[in-house]
Amino acid sequence: MNELKKYFAGIFTGLKSLVLGLSVTLKVFLRKKVTSQYPENRKTLQISPRFRAMLTMPHDTNNEHACTACGICAMNCPNGTIKVITKQIETEDGKTKRALDKYFYDMGMCTFCNLCVISCPSKAIEFSNNFEGAAFTREKLVLKLNQENSKLREKIKNV
Ligand code: SF4
Ligand code: SF4
Repeated sequence: MNELKKYFAGIFTGLKSLVLGLSVTLKVFLRKKVTSQYPENRKTLQISPRFRAMLTMPHDTNNEHACTACGICAMNCPNGTIKVITKQIETEDGKTKRALDKYFYDMGMCTFCNLCVISCPSKAIEFSNNFEGAAFTREKLVLKLNQENSKLREKIKNV
């Protein structure tokens, strides 16, 4: 008799766990989907505006930026991701002044800590949430920021 009890108890336990498992499956099946079909959803994809994907230097309609080439961002960067190259320019009143020549940002080195953005006194740089920065070689992750986006990529070895 005991054997029979054990047998049915085993079947009951098995069925109970099966129902429990299926109820979890059903719950998840009916839940709102959170996964995205990328890149098919590229046009509708919503990335958080706070997401730090790539450092950028905004330019205005005259293609001018706010960077004064002070180098503070590069000094505050913990791993040498930023390289600020300066040049001397002559102002209208005949004085010479230091200005930005090339601003290089190595996305392959960046830890996205945001220290450069916080420390910039001119608010000349910011993070964009454009995450599509993948490249086949590390060299292509070195971006020259002080120009139009279409011309952003430039090899640092040409400096
Ligand atoms: S986010 Fe951090 S690691 Fe990246 S460039 Fe700025 S300071 Fe350097
Ligand atoms: S981005 Fe800002 S901190 Fe960096 S060199 Fe330009 S003005 Fe200075």
